[in-house]
Amino acid sequence: MDIPFVNLRLQYESLRAEIDEAIQNVLHEARFIGGGAVKVFEKQFASLFDVPHCISTGNGTDSLFIILKALGIQAGDEVITPAFGCMPSAEVISLAGAKPVFCDVDPEFYTLDPEKLLEKINAKTKAVIAVHLYGQAAPLQALKKICDDKKTFLIEDCAQAHLTQENNHIAGTVGIASAFSFYPTKNLGAFGDAGCILTRDLHLAEKMRRLRNHGALVKDDHELEGTNSRLDTLQAAILSVKLKYLTQWNTARVALAQHYKSLLINIPEIVLPKERPGSTHSFHLFCIQTAHRDLLKKYLADCGVETIIHYPKGLPFTPAYQHLNHSEADFPVTAHLQNHILSLPLYPELKAEAVAQVAESIRQYFKK
Ligand SMILES: *Cc1c(COP(=O)(O)O)cnc(C)c1O
Repeated sequence: MDIPFVNLRLQYESLRAEIDEAIQNVLHEARFIGGGAVKVFEKQFASLFDVPHCISTGNGTDSLFIILKALGIQAGDEVITPAFGCMPSAEVISLAGAKPVFCDVDPEFYTLDPEKLLEKINAKTKAVIAVHLYGQAAPLQALKKICDDKKTFLIEDCAQAHLTQENNHIAGTVGIASAFSFYPTKNLGAFGDAGCILTRDLHLAEKMRRLRNHGALVKDDHELEGTNSRLDTLQAAILSVKLKYLTQWNTARVALAQHYKSLLINIPEIVLPKERPGSTHSFHLFCIQTAHRDLLKKYLADCGVETIIHYPKGLPFTPAYQHLNHSEADFPVTAHLQNHILSLPLYPELKAEAVAQVAESIRQYFKK
């Protein structure tokens, strides 16, 4: 591909000396689980968000699962999650023993629709998972108000939204707890699996620290059953180096997104991503909508441009949730998006000329 969807090597090369040194330090200390580097990263990440507690984990999926377990979610409970999005935001609910209840998203911003959420909440609803999809903040103030009124927990899935803001609140600081992923392609990516949880609640923080480490804070102190989901020392050291550049990388993503938008404007067959008024967008992904999606994708591939579909099937329509017997009429926005959405290449090191080349190929397709 002339223009791959993402190129992680460029970022490593730009920081090679710093990252190699951080890795060498861990190898020299020869402590690979826990240790200073993990504590340092947790502290840095928490202070960036001005939140007292950061609990590092093995990955973003575990972060969500650990939050649900710490909140006492169990069999008989319902947890609401968006119908349009990715598997982790739903599967963790069943994994915790509860029932996932899907809610449609808003057609402009692709995040939970507060009005539809109100229709889904009932006495069994113990939590709502707000996903900041593609880097667009969910309407946190509206969702928080609904959750507070209904006495249900608001959990934030920030895996695609590192430092996104909504009405002057950073995503990840409004809900009772929030899950982050540092999967390599995320806005802050490790060199393998990694994740963390943020919370302001001291009691919950301690419980989550136990849950990620067999129920123990220190060796043999198993106050409860947990699991093994710790952040590797090597990944923590790498993340501490990369964290310094997160804001700069987000700024580069936003600039490239604006560049795409300026070049793709006035193509009637395309819907460009919008930013919710009062919010920022961290452009983890740049997704357009078009009725010509599949043919355009193929045309772009022939032009050497790699694109990806996030996501080709709404969650209720996947085989994994067939037993819930949903039809497309239950989630009309999701049913529409799954056939129209297309993600264009976007990463901080992408050149403006590459963006122009992608945009030009798209123009050519619609001129045919
Ligand atoms: C990536 C992602 C996750 C899961 O993170 P992993 O680290 O891959 O387990 C959860 N939710 C969303 C929205 C994601 O994009």
